[in-house]
Amino acid sequence: MDHEVIYSSRRTLCIQIKDGRVIVRAPWRYPRTKIDAFVSSHEGWISKKLNEKREKTPIEREYSPDEIAMLKKRARAELIPRAMELSQKSGLSANGFSVSGARTRYGSCSWQNRITLSCFLVLYKQEYIDYVIMHELCHTVHKNHSADFYALLERFIPSCKEVRRHLRNGDHL
Ligand SMILES: [Zn+2]
Repeated sequence: MDHEVIYSSRRTLCIQIKDGRVIVRAPWRYPRTKIDAFVSSHEGWISKKLNEKREKTPIEREYSPDEIAMLKKRARAELIPRAMELSQKSGLSANGFSVSGARTRYGSCSWQNRITLSCFLVLYKQEYIDYVIMHELCHTVHKNHSADFYALLERFIPSCKEVRRHLRNGDHL
């Protein structure tokens, strides 16, 4: 587990969670191997704390059926025109765009190059929306997450690595 060590004139080890980072406070010259072992033995506690601190992303929150219907309506009005615009700008064309209530992924691209976007995506910043749309548009060229795929995506979204890190719950991304 990733952690940072801060040495000081203290006598014991302690673990702190700060802004999603794991910080170990240790006495001067305390052996690194013992610190690592200490962190390993507290992994359960650390994971629990990290999860508590992390705010749920919009796709993870609970919605009523009415709210979902509203989100789908908004998504059709906002995401699809944007997807068409980005498709035109990039020269990557899909065989249609649609909106779904998917919660496990922000978007998908079928073998027939039909792109589906999760309605929850409307709740994200424009930067993230554009990332997901461009990600799916790049799948019309590469049906995988190869280096070529990411190289193409990076041409359209230079900050793609950073955006990807921020979009949690998106291991498909
Ligand atoms: Zn993908």
